[in-house]
Amino acid sequence: MRQTLLKNIGQLVNVREQDFLLRGSALTDLPIIKNAWLLVEGGLIVDYGSMEKIPAKLANTKNHLDLSGRMVLPSWCDSHTHLVFAATREEEFVDKIRGLTYAEIAAKGGGILNSAAKLNDASEDELFLRAWKRLEQVSKMGTGAIEIKSGYGLSTEGELKMLRVIKKLREKSPLLIKSTFLGAHTYPLPYKNDHQAYIKIIIDEMLPQIAQDKLADYVDVFCERDFFSPEETLQICHAALRFGLKPKLHANQLNNSGGVQAGVSMNAISVDHLESMDDDAIQCLSNATTIGTMLPAAAFFLRMQYPPARKLIEAGAAVALATDYNPGSSPSGNMNLVLAISCIQMKMFPEEVINAATLNGAYAMELQDKVGSIRRGKVANLIVTSPINSVAYLPYSFGENWIDQVMINGEFI
Ligand SMILES: [Zn+2]
Repeated sequence: MRQTLLKNIGQLVNVREQDFLLRGSALTDLPIIKNAWLLVEGGLIVDYGSMEKIPAKLANTKNHLDLSGRMVLPSWCDSHTHLVFAATREEEFVDKIRGLTYAEIAAKGGGILNSAAKLNDASEDELFLRAWKRLEQVSKMGTGAIEIKSGYGLSTEGELKMLRVIKKLREKSPLLIKSTFLGAHTYPLPYKNDHQAYIKIIIDEMLPQIAQDKLADYVDVFCERDFFSPEETLQICHAALRFGLKPKLHANQLNNSGGVQAGVSMNAISVDHLESMDDDAIQCLSNATTIGTMLPAAAFFLRMQYPPARKLIEAGAAVALATDYNPGSSPSGNMNLVLAISCIQMKMFPEEVINAATLNGAYAMELQDKVGSIRRGKVANLIVTSPINSVAYLPYSFGENWIDQVMINGEFI
């Protein structure tokens, strides 16, 4: 079996004998071994430790990589993306500079409906190739596990097409990929005034086929005022649960929508966005097993308020960070930037953002047994930095590419 031995690692970051979902003050605890070694075999982390206690057999191995002064971290776990899309939307970016709001752009036929029209025109092969390129890009930026949603089809045919593209990405890519069905992203125009007719299509047409072809792990609903109400969200999620799809929701982005409470009431894996949170929503999440996933690159791009990260952490919530990579509100799959924005704009600490982007991100995709920390038996998806002295440098030096190498399944890419 192929072996790679890493020696003299300046800092081996997020080393854990045992994993648990990190909530509240536990997020500041980022275990590090200084001057460490790590052995990778057959694509897995098999052992590690301090150089002072390296076994004689490994100490004498000539065939190794010397990582003096460098950090080795678990790769990023990006638990919320819309990476399959047909076209970028920079014309709307310019509209936003002119002063139009998200809602006004949507009313002009832009927004999600614009992406849906372009997606339905694109072939499955085209969509795959474009998404494949993005996947390669994000892996070079340190992402080793990723969730990808449908939601630009908004028809049975279009949604199934997107989910088949995600399935093919999962089969061909070395990255760990989870698939989420987001047929309830918005109402297609013909159903604007007849919500139940579209929900019936989701429940009676889309879900049975998705389940039959095993096309999704999770269900997502855009729970917002003028989109899907909490009641409609519960209706769709309860139907999806009967097909084995657990909920991961878009909640409380544009309004204090009740999405957080709806998600927590169903033990959703995560409720994502959280820009618009009142004390009730914060309290509700602080006591829940549901993870609060913040997507600050979207707030940055849309010039919106940021999620109240400090209040959530101080209330004891389990939080994760993800990119929301999509053409309309976060055209970036760069987790490094997300970490920096989280420290700069949401006053999270470097240790907290690294934990939220690795272990808690893994939990938000139920991949905690495979990735998210340095633990024996986990998949060797790793980031090797250039020579760096402290973890604080990573979010601090936000414009620099300090990633020197990325390992996926034990192989440098
Ligand atoms: Zn999203």
